[in-house]
Amino acid sequence: MNYLWTEGVHPATHKKLEGEISTEVCVIGGGMAGILCAARLTECGIDNILVEAKEIGRGITKGTTAVLTAQHDLPYVELAKKYDEERAKQYLNANLEAVEKFRKSAEKIDCDMETCPSVMYSLTGEDNLREEAEFVNSLGFPAVYTSNPKLPFAVADAVIYPDMAQFHPLKFLNAAAKNLNIYSNTFVNKIDGKTAFTDDGRINANKYIIATHFPFINQHGMFFMKQYQKCSYVIAYKNAPQIHCTANMRGGFYFRNYKDLLLIGGGDHRTGKKGGGYEAVEEFALSHFQGAKEAYRWSSQDCMTLDNIPYIGIYSKSLPDVYVATGFNHWGMTTSMAAADILCDMVQGKSNPYSKAFAPDRSVMHPQLFCNLGATVADFVIPTTKRCSHLGCALRYNKAEHSWDCPCHGSRFDENGSLIDNPAMRNANV
Ligand SMILES: Cc1cc2nc3c(=O)[nH]c(=O)nc-3n(C[C@H](O)[C@H](O)[C@H](O)COP(=O)(O)OP(=O)(O)OC[C@H]3O[C@@H](n4cnc5c(N)ncnc54)[C@H](O)[C@@H]3O)c2cc1C
Repeated sequence: MNYLWTEGVHPATHKKLEGEISTEVCVIGGGMAGILCAARLTECGIDNILVEAKEIGRGITKGTTAVLTAQHDLPYVELAKKYDEERAKQYLNANLEAVEKFRKSAEKIDCDMETCPSVMYSLTGEDNLREEAEFVNSLGFPAVYTSNPKLPFAVADAVIYPDMAQFHPLKFLNAAAKNLNIYSNTFVNKIDGKTAFTDDGRINANKYIIATHFPFINQHGMFFMKQYQKCSYVIAYKNAPQIHCTANMRGGFYFRNYKDLLLIGGGDHRTGKKGGGYEAVEEFALSHFQGAKEAYRWSSQDCMTLDNIPYIGIYSKSLPDVYVATGFNHWGMTTSMAAADILCDMVQGKSNPYSKAFAPDRSVMHPQLFCNLGATVADFVIPTTKRCSHLGCALRYNKAEHSWDCPCHGSRFDENGSLIDNPAMRNANV
């Protein structure tokens, strides 16, 4: 694995928390979600600190493809069916506003921000793209339905969102983190009342925002039932065309350029299960872009919710002063920006027009809940000593990344059992 975004972009250094500190709001996690939350709190004059287990931006955020769009696959017709038109409109507007906020912030930040259309295409023409485009138009956004989105290969049809964007996530994140009150190498082990305990210190905060990718408090909120993790594989190629947009195939591959590279992603599968992986991406790339030469490759994973909407808001009724931002469904750039606004308003007791759409306590009655429960039960009964240190599921070996992965909740460990990705909080015996 060699990540594109970490090349030449070093994490900003911060001291480790030692001893005791008090603050109004403590943000836990220094990925895109946590940094944007802390930056927004600071902008609003709210006393806050951010604590990060490793270095900022070195979690899932370093593995993103950093496309900024409100076109999160084809969500809108489905959202209106599951909930109502109002919910679909809220989701659309929250993400459109987020794209604009990134664009505005980037006026002062060197982060290779580029405005470009985002394209969702179908190879079969049977994905109801026209219906999605017409519905998005009715919500007030000028999406365009076309059979010729000008991609370097033929497609059946496509929906185009004009004026979306792409950027360099870590250049942006480092700049956004400047002047924030950050402690790195500070792992939070638990929160008890108003106190959070780290390896060498403790934090007294009136409010907490948990932005740790997968939330780590299991006793409340039931996030381990409400989401699973999905891996995706990205290869960046030289000698590949400029596509002048970001593109996404219904149920398949996605691409964007960064300078002279073409990043192609896909091969997705539930973490711990089999899937297309790098081979699928290579096969696709070589069949469409002969002569393309690999420059970088990496895989990463994100939390997938029951209804494809992130969980942003109060952690659970029993923890009213703890807030969460998770479940970004592979679209955590704009939804992290939305989270920063929503949570900053919530900690101040202000209403926010989008809080209802993202509220973590919405109904769990979706078919995916039963898939999650089924996968967990099936995994528990597998006889092995290699078990996840989170809730004890059987780990599976991932040949592509030489890691031990948990199919239940997506914790990942290296070959020696050292923790790579949460929700597990400690190493595993493998
Ligand atoms: C391959 C791929 C491509 C993607 N492409 C896009 C895209 O084009 N556009 C888009 O919008 N989204 C995209 N996404 C999704 C997006 O990258 C993620 O949703 C987003 O980066 C998640 O950010 P985060 O802050 O929630 O998590 P992270 O970046 O993982 O940050 C969480 C941080 O919390 C820290 N932490 C964890 N536990 C603790 C603890 N106990 N104490 C202290 N700190 C802790 C971790 O060290 C980590 O740094 C993609 C995702 C993948 C996998």
